[in-house]
Amino acid sequence: MSLTARIAQVRERIAAACLGAGRPADSVRLVSVTKTVPVETIREAIAGGLTDLGENRVQEAAAKIETLGRDGIAWHLIGHLQSNKAGRAVQMFDLIHSVDSEALAREIDRRAGLAGKKQRILIQVNCSGEESKSGCAPGEVAGLSKAIAGLGNLWLEGLMTIGPLDADPESARPAFVLLRNLRDETQSQLGRPLPELSMGMTGDLEVAIGEGATMVRVGSAIFGERR
Ligand SMILES: *Cc1c(COP(=O)(O)O)cnc(C)c1O
Repeated sequence: MSLTARIAQVRERIAAACLGAGRPADSVRLVSVTKTVPVETIREAIAGGLTDLGENRVQEAAAKIETLGRDGIAWHLIGHLQSNKAGRAVQMFDLIHSVDSEALAREIDRRAGLAGKKQRILIQVNCSGEESKSGCAPGEVAGLSKAIAGLGNLWLEGLMTIGPLDADPESARPAFVLLRNLRDETQSQLGRPLPELSMGMTGDLEVAIGEGATMVRVGSAIFGERR
């Protein structure tokens, strides 16, 4: 199948899931995950209409942004960020999905201040309790979001999670419900809306949209299996 056909197929899946959930089709943003994908293929995908690209490593993304630029593209950091790369991340990414500690938030805030930027971020939550996963614990979201609210160069837009790796997409539902509930609690605690829920990937995007995802991060359905 051609890249264009794959993109169309993913858009149809999103539209069908929105319809099933009684949500407008434009309420979910497709973040295309381009990690390990060569620049030429990404260029083709951009020509095919993709606007939001997700990378999980600062180093790999740097080379791609250098080549592809940022005209009409929003770059998303979806992988774990080390504090010593926060400065580069601030220069590169429109939205950082993976803030999971106060120390990291403080360093991003400091670097954003130096760059004269207000950095948009999400808090990554480990909703499934798997030890291998990054993300703060669900019980840490309240404290972390309160700390972030006091950092003037950060703008918290919502929460992100990665569903459990399981062949059955239904097994991700409890994690997505938990993330939505945490978002609801956090926004009433902060007294302002947190509109974004970044959840759902190739295998479980329908379940995520059913539970309120506003961004789905899709790699292999568009670009094929990664090695
Ligand atoms: C790789 C990756 C994705 C995309 O996964 P697919 O199953 O290929 O769609 C989404 N989110 C994160 C954080 C990833 O690292």
